[in-house]
Amino acid sequence: MKIGFIGLGIMGKPMAKNLLKAGHELVVFDINKENVDNVTAAGAKAASSTADAASQTPVLITMLPNSPHVKAVVLGEKGILEGAKPGTILIDMSSIAPLASQEVEKACAAKKIKMIDAPVSGGEPKAIDGTLAIMVGGDKTVFEEVQPILLNMGSTAVYCGAIGAGNTTKLANQIVVGLNIAAVAEALTLVKKAGVDPQLVFEAIRGGLAGSTVLNAKAPMMIESNFKPGFKIDLHIKDLANALDTGHGVGAPLPLTALVREMMETLHADGFGQDDHSALARYYAKVSGAKIGK
Ligand code: NAD
Repeated sequence: MKIGFIGLGIMGKPMAKNLLKAGHELVVFDINKENVDNVTAAGAKAASSTADAASQTPVLITMLPNSPHVKAVVLGEKGILEGAKPGTILIDMSSIAPLASQEVEKACAAKKIKMIDAPVSGGEPKAIDGTLAIMVGGDKTVFEEVQPILLNMGSTAVYCGAIGAGNTTKLANQIVVGLNIAAVAEALTLVKKAGVDPQLVFEAIRGGLAGSTVLNAKAPMMIESNFKPGFKIDLHIKDLANALDTGHGVGAPLPLTALVREMMETLHADGFGQDDHSALARYYAKVSGAKIGK
């Protein structure tokens, strides 16, 4: 299948490479030329714009930071709606506000472009392994049509409901992940202050009820003071802000989400917005005076 891929960042790059490995022909675009070069070196063809990629491919994938980027790439100048033929399928895999997915889908439908939202969880390691968890909203028949493509990038692709449901599911995921990371940072700061080795605590509790994918991935990073992203604090702020907006819209108060978002805003203000979200450990170092890592 000939697929257009727009947005070749931390996630888009390995996802595009897995599509190439699966035998698809790729036409790619990103405003960052270095990212384009990285993927063309693996066999993709570069387009001169998003519209150019859209004019050549029956299926398009976008993997962009947030709602304004997706709106610009789909609705804007030299964007998808300018280039795509009627019948084209757009799979937006970015994590954006569910309301934005609904707005963009409406504009696509008016031009007979079929759009689904299909954000992912698993971060860069699972993007590289092709084992992402993919959550999908939109027309179920479109989902079924592109499911094999999704499974070239992920190990699961679950249909969650109408357009926007994929991103609503992703917000739930980001709440669970963000609050879990804060809990790990809080707990490991406590043990460090109390004079117990955080590494031994990690080993002791990981097999019990406190064990989690988040604990396994993020505790070692905190212990090593390695905050290389991964998933950036600034992107997680974006997701929690989208969760709070959505929560306020539907009447679901999210007090813990609000608290962790403010911790992340503190890190952003301190210049750590580009760090991995495990840098929540830095917030606890600031308020406790004790660093988990060496
Ligand atoms: P990133 O910032 O590394 O990559 C985004 C890419 O989009 C960049 O290469 C950028 O140049 C490109 N871009 C921006 N505007 C563009 C435009 N107008 N036209 C073409 N390209 C444009 O971000 P990422 O970490 O790859 O994340 C992408 C999405 O996936 C985000 O919504 C994020 O929340 C989500 N996500 C990320 C992770 C992770 O661990 N990094 C995990 C799950 C989901």
